[in-house]
Amino acid sequence: MSTTMLNYIAGEWRESAASEFGSVVNPATGEVIAEVPFSRASDVDQAARAAATAFINWRRTPPTDRVQYLFKLKNLLEANLEDLARTITVECGKTITESRGEMRRIVENVEVACGIPILMQGYNSEDIASGIDEMMIRQPVGVCAVICPFNFPGMIPFWFMPYALACGNTYIVKPSEKVPVTMQKVFHLLDQVGFPKGVVNLVNGAVETVDAILDHPVIRAVSFVGSTPVAKYIYSRASAQGKRAQCQGGAKNPIVVLPDADMDMTTNIVADSAFGSAGQRCLAASLALTVGEAKRTFADAICHAAASRIVGYGLDEGVQMGPVITRQSKERIEGLIGRAMAEGARAVVDGRAPRIPHYEDGYFIRPTVLQDVRAGSEIATTELFGPVLSLISVDSLDDAIALVNSGRYGNMASLFTNSGAAARKFRYEAQAGNIGINIGVAAPMAFFPFSGWKESFFGTLHGQGKHAVEFFTQTKVVVERWPKEWSRQF
Ligand code: NAD
Repeated sequence: MSTTMLNYIAGEWRESAASEFGSVVNPATGEVIAEVPFSRASDVDQAARAAATAFINWRRTPPTDRVQYLFKLKNLLEANLEDLARTITVECGKTITESRGEMRRIVENVEVACGIPILMQGYNSEDIASGIDEMMIRQPVGVCAVICPFNFPGMIPFWFMPYALACGNTYIVKPSEKVPVTMQKVFHLLDQVGFPKGVVNLVNGAVETVDAILDHPVIRAVSFVGSTPVAKYIYSRASAQGKRAQCQGGAKNPIVVLPDADMDMTTNIVADSAFGSAGQRCLAASLALTVGEAKRTFADAICHAAASRIVGYGLDEGVQMGPVITRQSKERIEGLIGRAMAEGARAVVDGRAPRIPHYEDGYFIRPTVLQDVRAGSEIATTELFGPVLSLISVDSLDDAIALVNSGRYGNMASLFTNSGAAARKFRYEAQAGNIGINIGVAAPMAFFPFSGWKESFFGTLHGQGKHAVEFFTQTKVVVERWPKEWSRQF
């Protein structure tokens, strides 16, 4: 029997007022594993009020004391890492190795946020005029919320939440309705940590829940990660309500392969980027632009890597790639491959409609490689979010960079080469927020911002590191006059 997800509000587990529920499905088996309530505006209101009440004392708690809760959380996450990793695999489909990697990123973000006593320091100047001093101090924003996508059920809330809490804000998490179980477990750990009631809150739900967050007057800042159309919508609706907003959107990541690249290394890295997590990473390589002779050498090698990847249930030993998230997702991706082929692309490795023994009801697509893809075609410009790599051959690095920069997204672009000059040119000219040089998934560590340009990001400050600290604090500038004559007595 599947369980129904609860909300966590004001330090207690509560049933939602929802009348609509969604099913949470294990994408490898097609089994329903839980039910998720689509929480109402009244649920969001309860969470926002609890968070607003908790904010009064939490912001007065010294940062050195606030981070003690995060140290405790880090230890609990480490102790429960394997259980959480298995949960991620069961509800999201990635392999257990990938889920453990996701868990490490969670812990890393908590560790970085523990540096808040230094990270949130302001600065000052003495004697800006005679007897006048000026200082900038950082204060928390208030109640903040995050709206999450399905593909990293654990990590994405942690790009934001640890920093928000460490800075003295109180928090609401709205997980993806497709994968709410991981956060349910994380909130059991947050409960064990013993945060004061209302400092951390969980509200499950979908569109109505999101709209209630965007419109709630008490919520001062919203972080979002998900697809571009929804990112745009959330950015504009949150901004119209006077909230801070940072909205990370979709992607179509190109990688460029020069003929001088180490082909073995490049192939392994690109295969992992394109097919890892079944291509459901916002940093997944989706287009490979081969320059000159690299067309032949790279194409042969990547086809071999694609065809030999072991696909199955992520909890099973030796599996290298799991399913995509839903049946609709599988049908959408297979439809895009079919239309690309009708337009003239060749599926040199065709992963559609595979039979995975014992998992006939899962949403599997094997790795797919398309050759002779036309630049500007639907397959070359659409985010697939599936294990499909399209190959386009170009004559020069300049042509490759022009093609990279012609895309509407700007999440990641990578170059494979052993030329320092080519690498510098690419780093300088490529229009993307995350650049890889001989790196297939250029995911910034927690102490760097997770950048993103163009339609991959709406806002100014990104998640993680110093950007998160800036997003979750507002600056206050104080100008003080202490005339000399007043201090004569001292
Ligand atoms: P999604 O946009 O469908 O959903 C994300 C969240 O928005 C969910 O919590 C969902 O409940 C909510 N939502 C969906 N439709 C809505 C609507 N009409 N109104 C209000 N709220 C709505 O995204 P997804 O399918 O869960 O995740 C995959 C997408 O996320 C991909 O496009 C991927 O590139 C992107 N992503 C981006 C990054 C990044 O850092 N740029 C990271 C991870 C994922």
